[in-house]
Amino acid sequence: MSLIEEANKGNITDEMKEVAAAEGVEPDFVRRGIAAGRIVIPVTPYREIKHCGIGKGLTTKVNASIGTSSDIVDISLEIEKAKAAEAAGADTLMELSTGGNFLDIRKQVIDATSLSVGCVPLYQAFIEAARKYGSVVDMKEDELFKATDDQAKLGSNFMAIHTGINLFTVERLKNQGRYGGLCSRGGAFMTAWMIHNEKENPLYSEFDYLLEIMKEHEVTLSTGNGMRAGAVHDATDRAQIQELVINSELSDRAHEAGVQTIVEGPGHVPIDEIKTNVTLMKRMSGDKPFYMLGPLVTDIAPGYDHIVTAIGASISSAAGCDFLCYVTPAEHLALPNVEDVRTGVITSRIAAHIGDMIKLGKRDQDLAMARARRDLDWEKMYSLAIDPEHARHIRDSRAPDDTEACTMCGNYCALKIVRENLNLAK
Ligand code: SF4
Repeated sequence: MSLIEEANKGNITDEMKEVAAAEGVEPDFVRRGIAAGRIVIPVTPYREIKHCGIGKGLTTKVNASIGTSSDIVDISLEIEKAKAAEAAGADTLMELSTGGNFLDIRKQVIDATSLSVGCVPLYQAFIEAARKYGSVVDMKEDELFKATDDQAKLGSNFMAIHTGINLFTVERLKNQGRYGGLCSRGGAFMTAWMIHNEKENPLYSEFDYLLEIMKEHEVTLSTGNGMRAGAVHDATDRAQIQELVINSELSDRAHEAGVQTIVEGPGHVPIDEIKTNVTLMKRMSGDKPFYMLGPLVTDIAPGYDHIVTAIGASISSAAGCDFLCYVTPAEHLALPNVEDVRTGVITSRIAAHIGDMIKLGKRDQDLAMARARRDLDWEKMYSLAIDPEHARHIRDSRAPDDTEACTMCGNYCALKIVRENLNLAK
């Protein structure tokens, strides 16, 4: 029985209890969320995992995407990145390799982590077609569904699938023009295939068949955002919103078929359009979990795109977004290394927390930190920090003579002066 069917029957499963305990909510709250499609818990019958709940009323989750490229294929590096992402506190991983042997790499990454692992099966279908036939546009339709089935059997338990690009969406894209085109690899592959073959997207026209595969392997569907703009100038345009309308409709069909569903969003979005995007998505999809890829709020800071994303992600999370895809300092420049992955996860976790302070009123940790700072209790401060090691390293590298203060103000530590002269409430 699928998790949705269990939830509809009023059954509280072990996965629901695990998520409820981690979130500090009642198991029945999680069950009702799954039954209504507001919450998902990616599951898999193929391996033991740490379950993660995503959706309304739960803390904002962070995904770290890793994977080889056509230029750099190093499986041990990808395994190291997977471990670094998990150690840094990522909630999920996406294994998005586009170089090397897809199934072999994914199997080794999956074996190296206890996290839910997502994938984009169409990468495999299109890239293997390019290797076999010479071009991605020569991919055979069945190869899309076979790649989905193969990857599900490995234990990939959520999949970004580009269901919302249909002929009507592509017309909107062609008619309006864009500065930055598409930044989704899957969107670009599928659009090129449809235009070349003058055919409908099989993931849209054969959506019921796709759902059969997803249901058989209990995979959570993440309706891909293939039309997302690659430039803030193009955000929230007709093609992007058209795809969102279609994906919202398909998310209802998936839920009715017993397939847990997330809806993906952009991308590159200026700050004043973020809340609009979240509101539109939530309204149109009936409150399905929303997975935002970034968003990046400016295009002029390569090397710092993790910070650019954290600004957008804080706003989107505060507005109701449930799931953030991290961005690393290497975005738009190179394949991320291990340190980029670690930095990307920590930065997105900060954004998720900032959003949760507003969305869920989660401020206990900040209050405890304020008290620890006032008391100059350094060990307590480290224990409350999002990245304790980094905080400890900075203080230790410039250690003060006075062990209570730090070398910023030294003898003139404001907190110490206040503590010695004012009677503050505990
Ligand atoms: S020395 Fe200055 S920066 Fe350091 S703890 Fe005291 S007030 Fe804060």
